[in-house]
Amino acid sequence: MISAVLFDLDETLLDRTTSLVAFLGDQHSRFAAGLGSGSFETWRDRFLEFDARGRVPKAVVYRSLLAEFHGDASLAETLLSDYRTRCSRFARPCDGMASTLMLLRAKGLRLGVVTNGETEFQARHVEALGLDSLVDAVLVSQTEGFRKPDAALFRLAAGRLGVELANCLFVGDNPVADILGADAAGMATAWFRCGQEWPPALPPTPGFVIDRLSDLLELTNQDPGPKKLSPRRATWP
Ligand SMILES: [Mg+2]
Repeated sequence: MISAVLFDLDETLLDRTTSLVAFLGDQHSRFAAGLGSGSFETWRDRFLEFDARGRVPKAVVYRSLLAEFHGDASLAETLLSDYRTRCSRFARPCDGMASTLMLLRAKGLRLGVVTNGETEFQARHVEALGLDSLVDAVLVSQTEGFRKPDAALFRLAAGRLGVELANCLFVGDNPVADILGADAAGMATAWFRCGQEWPPALPPTPGFVIDRLSDLLELTNQDPGPKKLSPRRATWP
């Protein structure tokens, strides 16, 4: 029986791209004189390409952008510090975040967030989204000493909520770190695909696929068919 739902943060609860683009507009307007040639739109688009959905360290992203646009290279550290301290001011939740979390909690499910990232940076986003009052535990990789897809972090999360791994459903957008990682640790999974295709080089997604957070509410009300669940999958309460 599923008794806890664990969530990734970026692009799962936090609409990271929308939030980041809003921050970049603000940052570009404040530092425009030192950012070199090109419009904000080209700077923004190249930032998102270098960033690769958050997989590339922002120190690398800023150095690359300043080099490409012939900006003031000495600004890299300032821009990075500005990103770390101000980005969360622009945090926007994914559609239905708060209502879905409240309704899942009303079903008696324990809730948690498990995110890779820097402790202070992620804590600011957790606070900005109001997640402290919506979930029962937040685990950040830098704090815990393990990163997804390391099974140790999933085990810690289940333990923090006081539930067995097999009774957890993990929800995330990253096929490897979130879905294959949680599956290998023994959790059920729901891939939040966000318009992406499942990478053909990977084994098929082992669990559910959702297009919006509110789909989790429907999952709790349906009889999960055998095509969506592997044999060891838990059943809903
Ligand atoms: Mg993510």
